[in-house]
Amino acid sequence: MPPEAADITDRLARLTSRINEACRKAGRDSSQVSLVAVTKTLSADTVRAGLSAGLTVFGENYIQEAQAKINEINSSAVWHFIGHLQTNKAKFAVRLFDLIHSVDSIKLARELNKRAESAGRGIPILVQINISGEESKSGVSKDQAEELIHEVLEFPHLKTRGLMTVPPFFESPDLARPYFKALRELKEKIGPPLIDLSMGMTGDFEVAIEEGATIIRVGTAIFGPRA
Ligand SMILES: *Cc1c(COP(=O)(O)O)cnc(C)c1O
Repeated sequence: MPPEAADITDRLARLTSRINEACRKAGRDSSQVSLVAVTKTLSADTVRAGLSAGLTVFGENYIQEAQAKINEINSSAVWHFIGHLQTNKAKFAVRLFDLIHSVDSIKLARELNKRAESAGRGIPILVQINISGEESKSGVSKDQAEELIHEVLEFPHLKTRGLMTVPPFFESPDLARPYFKALRELKEKIGPPLIDLSMGMTGDFEVAIEEGATIIRVGTAIFGPRA
């Protein structure tokens, strides 16, 4: 095993026990929480090391970077798109990814639906909500969220599975709790077919799990700090 793979294996073991502990504390089964290993800025070799450590689902933020990596790796890895998606990149996103976490406008939804139709498939998506209202964050505003979700649910080639958010960064992860809770409440208000809550990163995944996350997106805790 290359040294990098050994480091990843160690960090992943620690992460897994923290995930299990957070699930236990929340009275949830750990099979209800899936892990997306975030590999933005990391090399294809690092992704391969992740695969050999047992990771299966990878998250990428930039289409061009992801495309190069995905082509190079050419394995059974599952890829999720978690970054801000420009409408003119929708056709690539539909080809490359199994789940798009970041649908945040009707324009983007319409284009993804069209591209999914021509690709002859349904594309699973999440709607990204800017729960905190921070200007620097992508996502539809909380005020407009319900309207957008209902519109997105009408598109026949989008399989709308749930919601995603990135809360503000806090030194103390407990301060992110109200944002996770608000995302869960929004999902519960709308109900099925919304199932998934993509929330929680290295700094706050335990709180996110306690508040109902079904997908956590973790980079640093698995791969170490990004350069
Ligand atoms: C980078 C990124 C992550 C992972 O962040 P870490 O703090 O390294 O775990 C998760 N979600 C999104 C949207 C990101 O851009």
